[in-house]
Amino acid sequence: MLPEPVLRKAAEEMLDCQGSGQSVMEMSHRSPEYEAIIQGAEALLRDLMSIPANYKVLFLQGGASTQFAMVPLNLLGKKAKVDIVVTGAWAKKAMSEAKLYGSVRAVASSEDRKFTYIPRLSPDMFDQDAAYAHITTNNTIFGTRYREIPDTGALPLVADMSSNILSEEFDVTKFGLIYAGAQKNIGPAGVTVVIIREDLVGNALPITPTMLDYKIHVENGSMYNTPPCYAIYIAKLVFEWLKDLGGVSAIQQINEQKAQLLYGFLDHSKLFKGTVDPEFRSLMNVTFVLPTDELNKAFVKTATASGFVNLKGHRSVGGMRASIYNGMPLDGVRQLVAFMDAFERQNA
Ligand code: PMP
Repeated sequence: MLPEPVLRKAAEEMLDCQGSGQSVMEMSHRSPEYEAIIQGAEALLRDLMSIPANYKVLFLQGGASTQFAMVPLNLLGKKAKVDIVVTGAWAKKAMSEAKLYGSVRAVASSEDRKFTYIPRLSPDMFDQDAAYAHITTNNTIFGTRYREIPDTGALPLVADMSSNILSEEFDVTKFGLIYAGAQKNIGPAGVTVVIIREDLVGNALPITPTMLDYKIHVENGSMYNTPPCYAIYIAKLVFEWLKDLGGVSAIQQINEQKAQLLYGFLDHSKLFKGTVDPEFRSLMNVTFVLPTDELNKAFVKTATASGFVNLKGHRSVGGMRASIYNGMPLDGVRQLVAFMDAFERQNA
């Protein structure tokens, strides 16, 4: 979901953005009007995440999936080794892409128990001779998240934050690089945010295509080529909405309440069951199952008919998944829980 006030503002400005006589979609990306939008978006994100001055913020294209290649191409340098913590399908994709350019080691994996937990990590588990370590802070498909960011010592830590950026407070200084596809907590698909520490820019492998070199995008303020203008504009509106709400600490409180409501119900239910270790439960993706596949199917079907859409679990794991990103209001979760409660009573 996107926050309703954001969609309303976008609708209001659709034909005439701030008296410019144009839709944002019609503006030249080099116009002063558009420069104000992209620079405003960056300033708001810096403010929301307290991004220090020695980090660059980029608005790129190609989704988080392109970052799976861009990160190794830019960060491997002469080291040629990468440490990856394997906590789900997206981490595995990051790993296989990095393998195209260097040697990759799984520091730890939770595949032995179907990715239902986050492995324990200590600083000595990381190879200080590697180029970087990579984690996925929230595992969208399996419904787990890191409760603590691992200490990797001097080794730059790279995080795929696609599904929980801006959902809880993160200390950016713990990371060398953060990337996130926008389509969960930032805005529409089409823009990918990259936050990169300055010293990691400018070391791309010689084979790196120009469009995949962070340095090119840093030097051109994310305008080496035409940026995804409208997606960045919506992101700016989302950042404004979040700031008005009280920022990341405020949305974190709401997200914790939302998650607590849903997990609290699952813990007391005799029919529904959460699928991951409680310690590592995601605030964004709540995964659960019913005792049989028939019941899972029946639940998704009746839920859809009642207006609760997108509850089917990822095709690779089955069951159910309630994605309760920042845009989902507390009341939406209350209604879902009431619906689940009624379903349980009917099927007990
Ligand atoms: N990483 C994570 C954690 C994701 O959830 C997703 C998409 N759901 C991706 C990467 C891939 O993102 P994209 O579709 O933007 O390439």
